Amino acid sequence: MHLSKITRKSPVLKPPAFGCLRGTPSVNLTRGCLHACVYCYARAFPETPRAEVWLYENLPEKLSEEIRRLSLRVKLPSSVTFSTASDLFQPHPEVRNLALRVLKIVLEAGLRVSFLTKGYIPDEAWALFADYSSVIKPRIGLVSISRDYHRLFEPRTAPPPVRLSRLERLSALGLKPSVRIDPVIPGLTDREEAVEALFRRLSLCGVEEVSVSYLVLRPGVIRQMARKLPARVFREILRHYAGQPWQKVITSATTKLARKEIREAGYTLFREVGRAYGIRVRVCGCKNPDLPFEDCAPWERESPRDNFSKLPLFAGKIYNNKHAYKFSGSRNSETS
Ligand code: SF4
Repeated sequence: MHLSKITRKSPVLKPPAFGCLRGTPSVNLTRGCLHACVYCYARAFPETPRAEVWLYENLPEKLSEEIRRLSLRVKLPSSVTFSTASDLFQPHPEVRNLALRVLKIVLEAGLRVSFLTKGYIPDEAWALFADYSSVIKPRIGLVSISRDYHRLFEPRTAPPPVRLSRLERLSALGLKPSVRIDPVIPGLTDREEAVEALFRRLSLCGVEEVSVSYLVLRPGVIRQMARKLPARVFREILRHYAGQPWQKVITSATTKLARKEIREAGYTLFREVGRAYGIRVRVCGCKNPDLPFEDCAPWERESPRDNFSKLPLFAGKIYNNKHAYKFSGSRNSETS
């Protein structure tokens, strides 16, 4: 897939308007994502380019300027999350360099950072992780350790053994990485032996927490899957959505959830296996609106007062506890 450079005009520090990440600005380096996972619904947004990925080349300058202005107005957020609609570490040197520059800017500004990736974490990022270990919350997307799953659904991402070794390294640095098991593919990655194998490996890597949710179908995702998956696999997946209505989930009005009894049974299994391995399992509330809401935000919820007072670098300097942080919402929703 081709990478083109564009200039970003809209604000960067704009929080998503949905559940778990509400109020936390999300930063995407690109529109579209070079990983091109088969199930990715961010790729199916109407505004996402089809045959290429756009890189916001002016992001570092724009972000620095926004941080400067928000600091002066005492409206700087305490946390930023990366990669709600694209991956932070995509397989292209220019995306990688931009990721490192932008990470450095937000960390040096004293903001806490969470990111989600299925990619190769570049060597240079590890020094930053070590320097800022107390304010970084890494999340690694990993649904299955099966090589067949990787080959079929997300072949351009880092293979499972690479992600497991990165989890181990992050744990060794004391960063407490969590894992996002999303999208669970009904009938494939929610089999007991697959879940057991995944959790066994995660526990060996020092993972203590995961969030989990099933694949949600949208028209664009169905088209992508029909094009890329073997017909037999595609048909088997669709079976779990038979008879389900189109409904509003997060920001999309045309979403199908896997049947409720399938998800409930699956989540029960994930929790049981998680308990056996000492891993806390959180079910993503945003993608399961018909189940009791569970928050799977990367950071524990804090009061606005805490948001400011816990900042390590600038506490008591440019921040002011009296000011709550407010932004308008955006259309972003977190991919898997
Ligand atoms: S699911 Fe994530 S990693 Fe895969 S294409 Fe979408 S944004 Fe990129």
